Amino acid sequence: MNEPAQIIQEVDTIYHWLDEQISGLKQPCDACGDCCDFESFGHKLYVSTPELIYFQHHLGSNIKEMITGICPYRIKGKCTVYPYRFSGCRIFCCKGEDEKQNKLSEKIVRKFKILCDEYGTPYHYVYLKSGLEMMSRGPEFKIMN
Ligand code: SF4
Ligand code: SF4
Repeated sequence: MNEPAQIIQEVDTIYHWLDEQISGLKQPCDACGDCCDFESFGHKLYVSTPELIYFQHHLGSNIKEMITGICPYRIKGKCTVYPYRFSGCRIFCCKGEDEKQNKLSEKIVRKFKILCDEYGTPYHYVYLKSGLEMMSRGPEFKIMN
């Protein structure tokens, strides 16, 4: 297995771990999609290099630009990339407890940093808009340079 394939598999494992942690928090979410309109909702979604590599691998050429304050993958109020959504999308819940979400975010950031160290991949943690721009520049390997 080459390195990008290993990273993708490791991100999958991390997301699986994260989903289990989140399910333990029992956060009530109506899946209304309002928080994917960052401008109106007043928050930002940051994404890390391993997540971008994973996302690009699964989305292929379907990488969209973010031209408004709304995630381009929210269509008719629903997430169209749900299985591949970012850790910030998974953790955030408007009705959840900030402290628990912050702790989980710190843990996940650590895991992605360690992953980057292991594979010698530069760690970036950027606003979604910038991450989508980075991906639209070319294949996943470019993110790693
Ligand atoms: S990836 Fe999905 S969950 Fe995350 S901000 Fe975009 S539409 Fe919302
Ligand atoms: S976290 Fe809140 S705003 Fe976001 S989808 Fe769930 S209920 Fe809607």
